[in-house]
Amino acid sequence: MSDYEDAMDIMDDPVNSDVSGVRHRRGWDPDRVSLSSEVPGLNEVKDLLEDDVSVLSEGDDGVGCPLPSTPEDENLLNCEMTEVLKAGVLSDEIDLGALAHNAAEQAEEFVRKVWEASWKVCHFRNLPQWLQDNDFLHAGHRPPLPSFYACFKSIFRIHTETGNIWTHLLGCVAFIGVATYFLTRPSVEIQFQEKLVFTAFFAGVIVCFGMSSAFHTVHCHSECVGKLFSKLDYCGIAMLIMGSFVPWLYYGFYCQFQPKLIYLSVVICLGIASIVVSLWDRFSEPKYRSLRAGVFMGFGLSGVIPAVHYAISEGWFNALSQASLGWLILMGVLYIMGAMFYALRVPERFFPGKCDIWFQSHQIFHVLVIAAAFVHYHGISEMAMYRMTVGECASENESSSV
Ligand SMILES: [Zn+2]
Repeated sequence: MSDYEDAMDIMDDPVNSDVSGVRHRRGWDPDRVSLSSEVPGLNEVKDLLEDDVSVLSEGDDGVGCPLPSTPEDENLLNCEMTEVLKAGVLSDEIDLGALAHNAAEQAEEFVRKVWEASWKVCHFRNLPQWLQDNDFLHAGHRPPLPSFYACFKSIFRIHTETGNIWTHLLGCVAFIGVATYFLTRPSVEIQFQEKLVFTAFFAGVIVCFGMSSAFHTVHCHSECVGKLFSKLDYCGIAMLIMGSFVPWLYYGFYCQFQPKLIYLSVVICLGIASIVVSLWDRFSEPKYRSLRAGVFMGFGLSGVIPAVHYAISEGWFNALSQASLGWLILMGVLYIMGAMFYALRVPERFFPGKCDIWFQSHQIFHVLVIAAAFVHYHGISEMAMYRMTVGECASENESSSV
């Protein structure tokens, strides 16, 4: 068993969890001892310190996680360990009985600080099962980091999730900028109702990208936090698809109240259905990767029905020029390509271990989703411009009320 797994066992063990960095403390009764040489566990503590030094000298072969409590260098050890604890551990003279609790607390604090400051990326096979998602990514994984502070600090380090976090974080910031610009235009330029319709789209995009980067940031916190955020991530995708439908249906069926209402209701029902499926506990498991891609692809592709409806009733030429069908098709192609990369895990499938940090399928999927969102924004902007040039509906005044 590696040092890392050993440390994980201790963290999982409620008996030992209060002295996370000190192994095999079970049965240690500080009241019974006066000389440290008689203290069960002391030798193990010394062993641990010696192990740590020897781990440092072995160097990093890029395989396997070091013990999370392993100090990066002796300076760190010196500054984190108090003189009392060092004296207690390194000499056989001192009475540890009176210092036992203090030492345990110091050790726990020490482990926590070192953990946050100096974890190292590890190999896929050293991850706990709940973090093992894509076995084509070999090295560079974050170990479990049971601290939100450590998770958020990891945004600025290089590991398998760095690209995933930053792609959607930057996408989120970009769309916050676009939304702020759009929604602060004077009402003579863009009317309130227009702004409301675009807000549905902006909200979907921003929530989706925000949830996604949050998920990739805290995924390694713990099994329960990882599961919760993966559900929020999937809910974000459903909201992105729902939000994308709203402006397209609004402008596409601007003067046809009934089809607009029916399609919007169907989209909301499908969105709620995919959120419900996303909340299923086992939905995030690796074996359901294709199901996940299928659910969201099916939801997105349901947009083909109103698009064909529009093209048949208005003519294909009008559909291309007025309803920006070309942009809609490009958006669909980008989403489908993204979902295929995601489900098939290309290119890392063909180059296992070569796409650990950059150019893995999930990053490509993220980038394609951002591109699709921008294409959609362009498409619905064109539709809004067209509506402005054509003016309100001729006879059906009721239609503009939704
Ligand atoms: Zn993602």
